[in-house]
Amino acid sequence: MLPYGRQSVSEADIEAVTAVLRGDWLTTGPAVTAFEDAISKLAGGHRAVSCTSGTAALHMAYAALGVGPGDEVVTTPMTFVATASSAAILGAKVVFADVDADTALLDPAAVDALVTERTKVIAAVDYAGQAAEYAALQPIADRVGAKTLADAAHSVGGTADGRPVGDLADVTTLSFFPTKNLTTGEGGAVVCKDPAIGQRAHEFHFIGLVRDPDRFELADEGPWHQEVHEYGVNYRLTDLGAALGLSQLRRLAEFKQRRTEITARYNAAFAGVDGLRTPVQRPGVDPMWHLYPVRVLGGRRREVFERMRAAGIGVQVNYIPVYWHPVFARQGYRRGLCPNAEQFYAEELSLPLYPDLTDSDVDRVIDTLVTLVG
Ligand SMILES: *Cc1c(COP(=O)(O)O)cnc(C)c1O
Repeated sequence: MLPYGRQSVSEADIEAVTAVLRGDWLTTGPAVTAFEDAISKLAGGHRAVSCTSGTAALHMAYAALGVGPGDEVVTTPMTFVATASSAAILGAKVVFADVDADTALLDPAAVDALVTERTKVIAAVDYAGQAAEYAALQPIADRVGAKTLADAAHSVGGTADGRPVGDLADVTTLSFFPTKNLTTGEGGAVVCKDPAIGQRAHEFHFIGLVRDPDRFELADEGPWHQEVHEYGVNYRLTDLGAALGLSQLRRLAEFKQRRTEITARYNAAFAGVDGLRTPVQRPGVDPMWHLYPVRVLGGRRREVFERMRAAGIGVQVNYIPVYWHPVFARQGYRRGLCPNAEQFYAEELSLPLYPDLTDSDVDRVIDTLVTLVG
């Protein structure tokens, strides 16, 4: 079975990880610091805190922004559940705004209609790898005193209006799961424009430990002392993961180029095919295509999914609208809430897309799909 996504691991990656195993620091060591510095550099120069997953990154981001009971988080239903559930787990109310019917990105007009003085965060998702419309979302957030969050699990390495992902929203979260644009095994990061929020994200993922003597409330304990002011968790990335990530970052431009080439090959092949619609790219964005979300028209998506899988092609569907998950549906979120997202879900099919996919693999996917819908 051709997978829909997979990691690309080189001999240099393997050497980077084994070097850590031979060294002194398996965690909290120099590879973590170097990886965070490299992510920061890639993402606009802001503080980057690495962690154990994209879900952990979202939890840290919402916690660092002070999200809690009584707050509302406005977000998109066209995402992996963690974008919403990580805010709900902190006690916030999740408000779903619909997406643009073409791009499946959070629609600023829909957000504008739903924000209130209780809105704490507007969380957009860079679906499939193209940055959401932060230039329109930021003024809405500023107006109600909220912050913007970019769930950039798909888009690290991309840009919008010449600015890198990481520099587009107040806080940005990344995922380094193996199918994503670079991997640390499991892993993620939070990028924060405000250093104070970055420090809160760091402390939350580090058990809440405060190590700066200037901030101690217990001033005279001794040189060993560290203290906790707010509860935290342990979401630390290991040096093994960080070394892998650092090595992978060296090939990120190469990964991006290959993802772009495959996307162009799919686009050209499907352009004139009845029954298919190619992804819509919005102006000003240089995407890091993580998914290739073709739309299968005429109510045939499920049939086409099953026949592609039967032909050994590991297609995927991204995503079921988040509020259809029973945990949200049980709270009263009803079907029909976001019609564009539901229509997109009904038609979406993710085709294999990853750097090591060969041209002949791509052609096999194309031939199989075109024959099926023809
Ligand atoms: C993968 C993903 C996440 C979660 O990342 P993990 O590393 O799998 O926890 C969050 N949001 C989106 C949009 C994702 O694709």
